[in-house]
Amino acid sequence: MRKKIVAGNWKMNLGQEEASALVGELKDKIDSHNNRKKSQANGMPEVILFPPYPYLTRTVDVFGHYENVHVGAQNCHHEEKGAYTGEVSAGMIKSTGASHVIIGHSERRSQFGEDDKLLASKTSQALKNGLTPVFCCGEVLEEREKGDHFKVVADQIREGLFWMDKSQLGNAVIAYEPVWAIGTGKTATPEQAQEMHAHIRKLIADTYNEDVANDMSILYGGSCNAKNAAELFSNPDVDGGLIGGASLKPDDFFHIILALEEA
Ligand code: PEP
Repeated sequence: MRKKIVAGNWKMNLGQEEASALVGELKDKIDSHNNRKKSQANGMPEVILFPPYPYLTRTVDVFGHYENVHVGAQNCHHEEKGAYTGEVSAGMIKSTGASHVIIGHSERRSQFGEDDKLLASKTSQALKNGLTPVFCCGEVLEEREKGDHFKVVADQIREGLFWMDKSQLGNAVIAYEPVWAIGTGKTATPEQAQEMHAHIRKLIADTYNEDVANDMSILYGGSCNAKNAAELFSNPDVDGGLIGGASLKPDDFFHIILALEEA
């Protein structure tokens, strides 16, 4: 089902106490908002928090029983288990009570050499273990300047996701994150975001069908913040955001959640 989602990617940030403080502040804000909204049909959008691995269990302990808040990991290994020192499997993530995993973030692609084939194995591991993959795609600046951005994103999605059947794809979320906008303070314009999201939806419709495409949640990521979120979310094919820097600031992150709720 197509959902409105705000996801927070904390990356490799926050000490344990800071992480607990962030979770506590978010909990207070979400609780009071949920209480105010109880009698209204149109509740808060879905929120997914992606803390570093060591804080998964603690975050699940706080939010595990919430209907509209989920917890996920920022990555998983492409094998079930084995001699992979320092790695974490999808099954281990699932066992913490987490429900989602980010696959193919541009930082994993560029810093750890994760290619489309490997990412397809990771999405497969995620699904096998009952995790919802949040699959990231996006072009670098040079590709956009050459006019290759639509093809680059289509290729990433074809390789990473289109091995799935309809029902499997229905269990995934896509995040379009132009690499030139991640952590740079340079946001895609609402028009740029909308045209890429529409392109992705059409690609899904052409490969599967209209229903599958219309059910897909496609998030925007890349310097989305409390100031620009409302405008980005006002686009018909933008179903929410994957938020990096601003997800570490509870007031800003909550403001982004409210912007999506009102969109
Ligand atoms: C991200 O890391 O997915 C991201 C979008 O980061 P930022 O919001 O900081 O650009």
